[in-house]
Amino acid sequence: MNITKPFGSTLDLIGNTPLVRLTGPSEAAGCDIYGKCEFANPGSSVKDRAALFMIRDAEKRGELKPGGTVIEGTAGNTGIGIALVANALGYKTVIVMPDNQSKEKMDTLRALGAQLVLVPPTKYADPAHFQHVSRRMAEETEGAIWAGQFDNVANRKAHIEGTAPELWEQLEGRVDGFTCAAGTGGTIAGVGMGLKERDENIRIALTDPHGAALYNFYANGELKAEGSSVAEGIGQGRITANLEGAPIDTQFRISDEEGLEWVAKLLREEGLCLGLSSGINVAGAIELGKQLVAEGRKDVRVATILCDTGFRYLSTLYNAEWLRSKDLPVFDWLEQA
Ligand code: PMP
Repeated sequence: MNITKPFGSTLDLIGNTPLVRLTGPSEAAGCDIYGKCEFANPGSSVKDRAALFMIRDAEKRGELKPGGTVIEGTAGNTGIGIALVANALGYKTVIVMPDNQSKEKMDTLRALGAQLVLVPPTKYADPAHFQHVSRRMAEETEGAIWAGQFDNVANRKAHIEGTAPELWEQLEGRVDGFTCAAGTGGTIAGVGMGLKERDENIRIALTDPHGAALYNFYANGELKAEGSSVAEGIGQGRITANLEGAPIDTQFRISDEEGLEWVAKLLREEGLCLGLSSGINVAGAIELGKQLVAEGRKDVRVATILCDTGFRYLSTLYNAEWLRSKDLPVFDWLEQA
C-alpha cells in the first residue's frame, strides 16, 4: 500500500503530490503522459509550494517576524497558498489582485481571512498594476514583507527542491520530457533545473498560451505577444527573475480551445475536474510526446502539471453563459443543464 505515516504539521501536507498516467492524452500522443496532481495541495493549487518556500525564506532572512504581515500581488492561487501558510504560522495576509479574476478565488481569499484589495487590470508598466500596488503597500506597512513571487527565486526553489525530485522518484529516473506553461515561471524553471541536474537529456518545453510573449522569446529571442487567452495564472510578457536561466529546449503555443478540449475530455472520460492552465499543459505535453516519438525514442514518458482544481472556475469555465460571452465552445453537457 502506498500510504504515508501521519504528518506532524499541516504544512507538511504541501507537496508530495500524486502523479497519474493520463489515458486519453497518452493515447493521443502515442506515449505515456503523466500529470502531477497539484490540485491535491491544501490550497488546491501548485502555488502552495511557492507560498511556503517564500514565507520560510523571509523568516530565514529575518525579514518576517512573529505576528507580521505577508503582502502579495497575485491572480489568486498564490494568495490562497499564502493565506493558508500564513494562518498556520500566525501571520496576517493582504492580497492585491486584478478585479477580472474569478469570483471563486476572491470569495475563497476572503473566506480564508485574507484582506483583499482589488485593482483594475492594467499593464505591468502602469504603476497601478497589482504587482506594484502590492510592493508599495508592503513598503508602507509596519512589519510587512512583500512576497514578490515573480522575481523572488524562493518560488522556483520550491520546484527545484520539491516538484522535480518528486517527479524523478515517481518515474523511477526515467523521464524523457517535461512541459508546462508559465505565470511567474517558477514551475517551468524550477522543475526544468531540477530535472536537468539529474539527466541533462530530459527535454524541457515551455507551453505558452496565446497572448503571452515567451513562445516568441524562446523561439527567436523576441518578447512579443500575439492573440489572447482567458486562462488564469499563466501568460507572461517578460523574463522574470524566476525565468532567468531556465533550461528551455523547445516551445509550443496552445490555444484556449485546445486547452478546453482537454479539460472537457479529462473531466468526462477520466473524472478529473481541472482549470484551463492544466488543459493547456496537457495539450503541450501531447505535442512534446509526439515530438519525442517522431524522433524514434522508445517508451517515451512525458510529465506535466495539473495546476489547480476546476472547482475554482464554476462561474467561468464551467458556465455556458460565460463561455459563450468569450466566444468559446460550450461543453455539451452544460448546454443540456
Ligand atoms: N496555473 C495556474 C492556475 C496558476 O495560478 C499558476 C500560477 N500563477 C500557474 C499555472 C503557473 O505557475 P508559475 O507561477 O509557477 O509559472
